[in-house]
Amino acid sequence: MLQCNYQAGTIMDKIRNYTFEEYCDRIKGFHGGLAPGVIIAGYMVDLAYRHLPADALYDVICETTSCLPDAVQLLTPCTAGNQWMHIIDVGRYALTVYDKQTGEGVRVYIDSTKLDKWPVIRDWFFKTRSKKEQDRQRLTGQVREAGIDIFSVEQVKVSPGYLKKQPKAVAVCPVCHEAFKADSGSLCPACRESRLPYHTSEKTESSGSK
Ligand code: ZN
Repeated sequence: MLQCNYQAGTIMDKIRNYTFEEYCDRIKGFHGGLAPGVIIAGYMVDLAYRHLPADALYDVICETTSCLPDAVQLLTPCTAGNQWMHIIDVGRYALTVYDKQTGEGVRVYIDSTKLDKWPVIRDWFFKTRSKKEQDRQRLTGQVREAGIDIFSVEQVKVSPGYLKKQPKAVAVCPVCHEAFKADSGSLCPACRESRLPYHTSEKTESSGSK
Protein backbone atom coordinates (compact mmCIF):
# COMPACT_ATOMS: atom_id res chain seq x y z
CA MET A 1 0.00 0.00 0.00
CA LEU A 2 1.23 3.45 -0.86
CA GLN A 3 1.29 5.71 2.11
CA CYS A 4 1.82 9.42 1.98
CA ASN A 5 1.36 12.30 4.37
CA TYR A 6 -0.33 14.65 1.94
CA GLN A 7 -3.84 15.17 0.64
CA ALA A 8 -4.57 16.02 -2.99
CA GLY A 9 -5.10 19.77 -3.18
CA THR A 10 -2.53 20.47 -0.47
CA ILE A 11 -0.64 23.67 -1.19
CA MET A 12 3.01 22.70 -1.37
CA ASP A 13 4.88 25.34 0.59
CA LYS A 14 8.20 23.57 0.20
CA ILE A 15 9.89 21.63 -2.56
CA ARG A 16 12.14 19.30 -0.59
CA ASN A 17 14.02 21.75 1.64
CA TYR A 18 13.45 24.86 -0.43
CA THR A 19 10.73 27.46 -0.65
CA PHE A 20 9.27 27.91 -4.12
CA GLU A 21 11.34 31.07 -4.62
CA GLU A 22 14.56 29.44 -3.42
CA TYR A 23 14.02 26.49 -5.72
CA CYS A 24 13.34 28.80 -8.69
CA ASP A 25 16.62 30.61 -8.00
CA ARG A 26 18.47 27.31 -7.96
CA ILE A 27 16.88 26.32 -11.28
CA LYS A 28 17.99 29.57 -12.91
CA GLY A 29 21.56 29.01 -11.73
CA PHE A 30 21.77 25.39 -12.78
CA HIS A 31 19.47 24.93 -15.76
CA GLY A 32 20.10 28.30 -17.40
CA GLY A 33 16.53 29.59 -17.09
CA LEU A 34 13.33 29.08 -15.17
CA ALA A 35 11.98 26.14 -17.16
CA PRO A 36 8.46 25.10 -16.11
CA GLY A 37 9.46 21.46 -16.61
CA VAL A 38 12.10 21.69 -13.89
CA ILE A 39 9.64 23.28 -11.47
CA ILE A 40 7.11 20.52 -12.16
CA ALA A 41 9.83 17.90 -11.82
CA GLY A 42 10.72 19.37 -8.42
CA TYR A 43 7.21 18.62 -7.21
CA MET A 44 7.54 15.12 -8.63
CA VAL A 45 10.77 14.48 -6.72
CA ASP A 46 9.22 15.88 -3.55
CA LEU A 47 6.13 13.73 -3.95
CA ALA A 48 8.15 10.58 -4.53
CA TYR A 49 10.24 11.11 -1.40
CA ARG A 50 7.09 11.73 0.65
CA HIS A 51 6.10 8.14 -0.06
CA LEU A 52 9.41 6.67 1.08
CA PRO A 53 11.10 6.16 4.46
CA ALA A 54 13.66 8.87 5.19
CA ASP A 55 16.39 6.50 6.36
CA ALA A 56 17.17 4.52 3.19
CA LEU A 57 19.47 5.24 0.26
CA TYR A 58 17.81 5.78 -3.07
CA ASP A 59 18.57 5.72 -6.77
CA VAL A 60 16.45 7.46 -9.38
CA ILE A 61 15.38 6.50 -12.89
CA CYS A 62 14.29 9.33 -15.19
CA GLU A 63 12.27 8.33 -18.24
CA THR A 64 13.20 11.43 -20.24
CA THR A 65 16.30 13.50 -20.81
CA SER A 66 14.31 16.76 -20.69
CA CYS A 67 14.26 18.88 -17.53
CA LEU A 68 13.54 16.02 -15.08
CA PRO A 69 17.18 15.02 -14.55
CA ASP A 70 18.04 18.56 -13.48
CA ALA A 71 15.41 18.57 -10.74
CA VAL A 72 16.76 15.24 -9.50
CA GLN A 73 20.29 16.64 -9.39
CA LEU A 74 19.15 19.83 -7.63
CA LEU A 75 17.08 18.11 -4.98
CA THR A 76 18.64 14.73 -4.25
CA PRO A 77 22.14 13.26 -3.83
CA CYS A 78 21.59 11.38 -7.12
CA THR A 79 23.53 12.75 -10.07
CA ALA A 80 24.54 11.56 -13.51
CA GLY A 81 28.16 11.60 -12.35
CA ASN A 82 27.77 9.41 -9.28
CA GLN A 83 25.49 7.12 -11.27
CA TRP A 84 22.74 7.15 -8.67
CA MET A 85 20.57 8.79 -11.32
CA HIS A 86 19.84 6.70 -14.40
CA ILE A 87 18.26 8.07 -17.54
CA ILE A 88 16.31 5.56 -19.59
CA ASP A 89 14.91 7.80 -22.29
CA VAL A 90 11.54 6.43 -23.27
CA GLY A 91 10.16 9.96 -23.64
CA ARG A 92 7.73 9.80 -20.70
CA TYR A 93 7.62 12.51 -18.07
CA ALA A 94 8.11 10.12 -15.17
CA LEU A 95 10.61 9.29 -12.49
CA THR A 96 11.11 6.39 -10.15
CA VAL A 97 12.84 6.70 -6.79
CA TYR A 98 13.82 3.32 -5.37
CA ASP A 99 15.75 1.76 -2.53
CA LYS A 100 19.11 0.82 -4.02
CA GLN A 101 19.26 -2.40 -1.95
CA THR A 102 15.72 -3.76 -2.29
CA GLY A 103 14.51 -2.07 -5.48
CA GLU A 104 11.27 -1.04 -3.73
CA GLY A 105 10.17 2.39 -4.77
CA VAL A 106 7.61 4.72 -6.24
CA ARG A 107 7.04 6.06 -9.72
CA VAL A 108 5.56 9.52 -10.23
CA TYR A 109 4.31 10.65 -13.63
CA ILE A 110 2.39 13.51 -15.18
CA ASP A 111 -1.10 12.10 -15.55
CA SER A 112 -2.61 13.53 -18.72
CA THR A 113 -6.10 12.70 -17.45
CA LYS A 114 -5.57 15.26 -14.70
CA LEU A 115 -4.53 18.12 -16.96
CA ASP A 116 -7.99 19.25 -18.12
CA LYS A 117 -8.28 21.21 -14.88
CA TRP A 118 -5.04 23.00 -15.72
CA PRO A 119 -5.36 24.19 -19.35
CA VAL A 120 -2.23 26.34 -19.41
CA ILE A 121 -0.09 23.43 -18.22
CA ARG A 122 -1.86 21.11 -20.64
CA ASP A 123 -1.10 23.41 -23.61
CA TRP A 124 2.55 23.63 -22.56
CA PHE A 125 2.84 19.87 -21.97
CA PHE A 126 1.32 18.89 -25.31
CA LYS A 127 3.10 21.76 -27.08
CA THR A 128 -0.16 22.96 -28.60
CA ARG A 129 1.10 26.54 -28.35
CA SER A 130 4.42 27.82 -29.58
CA LYS A 131 6.83 29.26 -27.03
CA LYS A 132 5.97 32.73 -28.37
CA GLU A 133 2.29 32.23 -27.65
CA GLN A 134 2.91 31.03 -24.10
CA ASP A 135 2.33 33.35 -21.20
CA ARG A 136 5.27 32.25 -19.07
CA GLN A 137 4.09 34.04 -15.96
CA ARG A 138 0.65 32.46 -16.16
CA LEU A 139 2.21 29.07 -16.77
CA THR A 140 4.54 29.36 -13.78
CA GLY A 141 1.60 30.54 -11.67
CA GLN A 142 -0.52 27.59 -12.71
CA VAL A 143 2.37 25.17 -12.11
CA ARG A 144 2.72 26.52 -8.59
CA GLU A 145 -1.01 26.41 -7.96
CA ALA A 146 -1.36 22.87 -9.32
CA GLY A 147 1.60 21.55 -7.31
CA ILE A 148 1.20 17.79 -7.05
CA ASP A 149 -2.35 17.80 -8.44
CA ILE A 150 -1.27 16.75 -11.96
CA PHE A 151 0.59 13.57 -11.00
CA SER A 152 -0.21 9.98 -10.28
CA VAL A 153 1.91 7.70 -8.17
CA GLU A 154 2.42 3.97 -8.39
CA GLN A 155 4.42 1.47 -6.43
CA VAL A 156 7.25 -0.23 -8.32
CA LYS A 157 9.90 -2.85 -7.73
CA VAL A 158 13.05 -2.51 -9.77
CA SER A 159 14.29 -5.86 -11.02
CA PRO A 160 17.23 -7.43 -9.13
CA GLY A 161 19.26 -7.73 -12.35
CA TYR A 162 19.18 -3.95 -12.74
CA LEU A 163 20.26 -3.37 -9.12
CA LYS A 164 23.30 -5.57 -9.44
CA LYS A 165 26.43 -3.58 -10.09
CA GLN A 166 28.04 -4.80 -13.27
CA PRO A 167 31.74 -5.63 -13.08
CA LYS A 168 33.68 -2.83 -14.72
CA ALA A 169 36.25 -4.36 -17.05
CA VAL A 170 38.24 -1.83 -19.06
CA ALA A 171 39.76 -2.72 -22.42
CA VAL A 172 41.39 -0.93 -25.34
CA CYS A 173 39.31 -0.79 -28.52
CA PRO A 174 41.25 -2.16 -31.53
CA VAL A 175 39.73 0.44 -33.86
CA CYS A 176 40.06 3.77 -32.02
CA HIS A 177 42.74 2.55 -29.57
CA GLU A 178 40.95 4.22 -26.67
CA ALA A 179 40.12 2.55 -23.37
CA PHE A 180 36.45 1.91 -22.74
CA LYS A 181 34.15 0.06 -20.35
CA ALA A 182 34.17 -3.35 -21.96
CA ASP A 183 30.81 -4.61 -20.73
CA SER A 184 29.67 -5.73 -24.16
CA GLY A 185 31.92 -6.82 -26.98
CA SER A 186 35.50 -6.13 -27.93
CA LEU A 187 34.88 -2.96 -29.96
CA CYS A 188 33.85 0.16 -28.11
CA PRO A 189 30.19 1.13 -28.72
CA ALA A 190 31.33 4.30 -30.50
CA CYS A 191 33.12 2.27 -33.19
CA ARG A 192 30.68 -0.63 -33.22
CA GLU A 193 27.53 1.41 -33.68
CA SER A 194 28.76 4.75 -35.06
CA ARG A 195 26.93 6.44 -32.23
CA LEU A 196 28.76 9.73 -32.15
CA PRO A 197 27.65 12.63 -34.37
CA TYR A 198 31.08 13.92 -35.35
CA HIS A 199 34.06 13.07 -37.49
CA THR A 200 37.58 13.30 -36.14
CA SER A 201 40.71 14.38 -37.89
CA GLU A 202 43.78 12.17 -37.47
CA LYS A 203 44.84 11.77 -33.87
CA THR A 204 47.59 14.14 -32.80
CA GLU A 205 49.62 14.58 -29.63
CA SER A 206 47.84 16.74 -27.09
CA SER A 207 48.64 20.33 -27.91
CA GLY A 208 50.71 21.61 -25.01
CA SER A 209 52.93 24.66 -24.90
CA LYS A 210 55.54 24.77 -27.62
ZN1 ZN B 1 36.61 2.30 -30.58
